[in-house]
Amino acid sequence: MEYTEIMVRYGELSTKGKNRKDFIGKLAGNVTKVLRKFPQVEIHPRHDRMHIVLNGAPFTEIDQRLKKVFGIQTYSPTIKVEKTLQAIEETSLALMKETFKKGMTFKVNTKRSDHHFAYDTNELNSLVGDYLFENMPDLKVEMKQPDLVLRIEVRQDAIYISNQLLHGAGGMPVGTGGRAVMMLSGGIDSPVASYLALKRGVDIEMVHFFSPPYTTEKALNKAKELTGILANYAGRINFIAVPFAEIQETIKEKVPEGYLMTVQRRFMLRLADEIRAKRNELAIFNGESVGQVASQTLESMMAINDVTTTPVVRPVATMDKTEIIRLAEDIGTFDLSIKPFEDCCTIFAPPRPKTKPKVDKAREYEARLDVEGLIERALAGIEVTAIYPDDKFLADKAEEDAALL
Ligand code: ATP
Ligand code: MG
Repeated sequence: MEYTEIMVRYGELSTKGKNRKDFIGKLAGNVTKVLRKFPQVEIHPRHDRMHIVLNGAPFTEIDQRLKKVFGIQTYSPTIKVEKTLQAIEETSLALMKETFKKGMTFKVNTKRSDHHFAYDTNELNSLVGDYLFENMPDLKVEMKQPDLVLRIEVRQDAIYISNQLLHGAGGMPVGTGGRAVMMLSGGIDSPVASYLALKRGVDIEMVHFFSPPYTTEKALNKAKELTGILANYAGRINFIAVPFAEIQETIKEKVPEGYLMTVQRRFMLRLADEIRAKRNELAIFNGESVGQVASQTLESMMAINDVTTTPVVRPVATMDKTEIIRLAEDIGTFDLSIKPFEDCCTIFAPPRPKTKPKVDKAREYEARLDVEGLIERALAGIEVTAIYPDDKFLADKAEEDAALL
């Protein structure tokens, strides 16, 4: 049977006036964005639920997109029928026949917002239940934990029948949590951190440092393509590429080897913060995980974080690598993240970075550099690209395979 409408139940929703309005408004906007390829679809955001009228759009394709939209707790595809007992019975039977397998248990669950309808909820539960039994002798009722729940909703305009309750992505609608920059490398961790930021409703723009001629176009494209995967959760994400080679060359020339990494990271954070301020954003997110590598010890974080008082949020800070990898696989970034295109950090990585750098030393070495000039020139070279769900940037498959040899 073809579903006619999807009923969406909201996620974690603070019930107060303005917040609720903002939540529902942003969610409706985000759903509109991910479904823009289906112009026939109508979206009706209401106080307690959202109704998506399909008008013939294919449910399975809509479903693929909808399950990535944050702020949705559960949703049910439904069939709209006219308000007669016969219509309810016929559609219920057809839906049950489609989904029921021998041995399954079920129950009918009716809700009614139209209190003038000829039958109340108890009457409908038993009338429809009896009708189904007569036509499907294998059925077994189970009130507490049935395998299948047939939901019937009696509303003013019509009756809606559903046989599925699907889990949404949870979280908060992107945009309800303010705007921030996300430091995105081409690695495993920062795409996962991006996903988690979006899940809490934070609208992110990617900041990515690249170092031509030391890094290739492929490394840059990889980060852009990762952004394309993450855009499925946001509708659209801006990608801000920041040229970093001059800074790295200068640091390499003037800073002692043990502090190369610390000072590079301080520059990255400064640049991210400048971009954040110019774009009126409130925080910086990154993919650091405590203790994972030399630059991510607490001492290192202290020495690096010294350049700003802006909140630096680290969504994967306390996760194990295996947990991060599992999430990367779930959200579809892992396979791309492990492609071996060198990024700017790998190439300028010192062989023995200090795991316990000192703030004073970092400041002292930096005093040898024209910090302002370097920052200014890097900012002058930034390039912003708007990236949409599943945008592709990698070279074609044959070229990609050749690069892996
Ligand atoms: P990731 O898998 O995210 O690359 P990682 O474990 O490889 O993380 P690092 O390379 O030390 O860790 O980087 C730590 C964090 O610094 C990254 O998660 C990211 O937020 C930021 N970062 C590193 N390199 C870049 C880059 N080229 N552009 C933007 N941000 C970067
Ligand atoms: Mg990395």
